[in-house]
Amino acid sequence: QANHARQRSARSNSKHLFSRAKAVFPDGTTRATVEKDPVPVYVQRGEGAYLVDADGNRLLDLNNNFTTLIHGHAFAPVNEAVVDLLRRGTCFANPTEHEIALAELLTARIPAIERIRFVNSGTEAVMFAIKAARAFTGRPGVARIEGAYHGAYDWAEAGQAISPGKHGWETTPIATPTYRGTPTSVAEDVHLLRFNDVEGLVKRLSAMSERIACVLIDPMPSRAGLIHPEPAFLEALSATARKYGILIVADEVLNLRQGYAGASMRYGVKPDLIAAGKIIGGGFPIGAIGGREGVMRVFGAEDTMPLLPQGGTFSANPVSMVAGRAAMEAMTPEAFDRLEGMGERLRRGLKASIVRRDAPFSVTGAASLFRIHPKRVTPVEYRDAHLDATEALLMRKMTRHFLEQGILLPYGAAACLSTAMVDNEIDLILRAFDDFLDAESQ
Ligand code: PLP
Repeated sequence: QANHARQRSARSNSKHLFSRAKAVFPDGTTRATVEKDPVPVYVQRGEGAYLVDADGNRLLDLNNNFTTLIHGHAFAPVNEAVVDLLRRGTCFANPTEHEIALAELLTARIPAIERIRFVNSGTEAVMFAIKAARAFTGRPGVARIEGAYHGAYDWAEAGQAISPGKHGWETTPIATPTYRGTPTSVAEDVHLLRFNDVEGLVKRLSAMSERIACVLIDPMPSRAGLIHPEPAFLEALSATARKYGILIVADEVLNLRQGYAGASMRYGVKPDLIAAGKIIGGGFPIGAIGGREGVMRVFGAEDTMPLLPQGGTFSANPVSMVAGRAAMEAMTPEAFDRLEGMGERLRRGLKASIVRRDAPFSVTGAASLFRIHPKRVTPVEYRDAHLDATEALLMRKMTRHFLEQGILLPYGAAACLSTAMVDNEIDLILRAFDDFLDAESQ
């Protein structure tokens, strides 16, 4: 296997590109999430499950553009749909049939989506879902899980990257903005919840209910650890939100890939609104806000003026619409089942390697998603998954080991499979992990 051969460690072309990039981008990259250890891996092209980097190395891609590419790279049905469209114009101020077709596909599959709007990113989808919840309830606040990533909207971002202080974790954490540039006043309207903490959730939502428009919930938040939700937690969340008229906004930007009808259905949550993105654009920029017809009326209805007019120059652009439709049509229930089967085999294999060596690692995830934690005890909330300095070093070492074995494993985020993969790719991942644990135990 070409990718299993030792990688050309010099990465001289990537190094050269990085030095050019440093002269034009403030930190040498265009995304804070670009791995720079030891240098960013510049991509020449993508083919199915693999990338070819600027130095000609073939790499198994477990990032898939942050879980977007459920079919891997250059998926033929998407390419054909897009090439066909390019000849006929790529964006219009007028609506097209393409947006209706993608909307029909999604509303038919996902029961909670009775009506839908398209935007251009997951960040925008979460932002408009929060604004819609505020417009509907007349309340300003957002309750959200500490450590979860929901994009860059101020009220979705505050509380994402909290860490323990000098005296450990705060019992009731404050949603301090993660980045400079976000006003501290945002914290007044962001209420943090701990994942899988039923008592804390009920207490916090009840105490602040009159100020909370929505609880923003990703049923398996990837940055917070890709941790399984306890059924009791989701039940308490639903019951408490209903009791106080707080809307449930499910952020399925990433986890829609967990099943044919999405993640809320899988975990038994009945959201009022869903924010979607990533896989539904087939590799092109997209976001979507969907939900109950009664709530979606805030965007306007035939007989009412919108409380929340929402537009966007590239919203529902035909390229994303046809690409998304081609990608989603190929995601039949059977395709989801096959991915799930591979994911299960992989997680089982990783766990078996850990148990065999009694190694201080654990594995979380579901469907086509997984994370390997340098933690002996499987995390049940963000605080357990948060890495101290020693664990962070070990994680870096593992990511670098995978890269040397020709596998791109995301650092501190969800890794994912694609339909372009078969059992051979699962074997490669398991072998690389085994090798790493062997090297560590020596
Ligand atoms: N919500 C979740 C759960 C995400 O994982 C992401 C992106 O990774 C976003 C929102 C933001 O989406 P985008 O990067 O398309 O703005």
